[in-house]
Amino acid sequence: MANARGLVAVNVEECKGCKLCVEACPVDVLHLAASYNTHGYSPAEYDGEGCTGCGVCFYACPEPGAITVYKNWADAQEAYVCGVKKVGSRLTVIDSVKGLAQCEACGQEVILSDYSNLSFSE
Ligand code: SF4
Ligand code: SF4
Repeated sequence: MANARGLVAVNVEECKGCKLCVEACPVDVLHLAASYNTHGYSPAEYDGEGCTGCGVCFYACPEPGAITVYKNWADAQEAYVCGVKKVGSRLTVIDSVKGLAQCEACGQEVILSDYSNLSFSE
């Protein structure tokens, strides 16, 4: 994950599970989750590594705000919004292999590969 050139964040509740992004991704690093959102759709999910940051999934998605691509972790870290304190924060990577980071605002640990628990400003 540390060497990935892009980072994809799916807003689980906005995603309709149409799979267009999954099929459009040139390097096949998206899939539909095994779980469901509150609307009963299986949202898109990032495999956790290999994203090139090309943005094809963003342009393929018909749902505004469902999928966002960041060019690198630094951009994503800057855009992170703490779900507990509801303020802009930063993520400090603790273990890039296990995909663990810490939110500077609330101090809680977040799992980077579980994008459903990450929130980013537009
Ligand atoms: S930005 Fe490109 S490589 Fe990354 S998940 Fe989207 S389509 Fe795939
Ligand atoms: S992120 Fe967009 S394109 Fe991908 S499955 Fe969800 S709604 Fe469809």
